[in-house]
Amino acid sequence: MRSRYSAFVLGKVDYLLQTSAPENHAPNERELLKQSCANTHWLALKVIEAKENTVEFSAFYEVKDEVEQLHERSSFELRGDQWIYVSGVFLPPLTFGRNDPCWCSSGKKYKKCHSG
Ligand SMILES: [Zn+2]
Repeated sequence: MRSRYSAFVLGKVDYLLQTSAPENHAPNERELLKQSCANTHWLALKVIEAKENTVEFSAFYEVKDEVEQLHERSSFELRGDQWIYVSGVFLPPLTFGRNDPCWCSSGKKYKKCHSG
């Protein structure tokens, strides 16, 4: 999962295609992934819970100077020797208290960092 996040950050579309279920690909999946990578400025990944074949995470990204959050539980399947992303369920965004550590791992409190 972390490797897929890195691939999104770095725009490694081939890797993203190889590690997601082909039966779920849109006909123009490569183009969609390219656009997604080009248009999204990823800020941070927080893995909340990783089990054998599901990972719950929040990924933070910036759109027009606003921070957005993708909170998802992803399901993976082992096919051959490769874990393949098969589906994801969107969850409500995590919320942060003013005194919580900021999600960006700056070490600062949320209120002094990305609280807006
Ligand atoms: Zn921060």
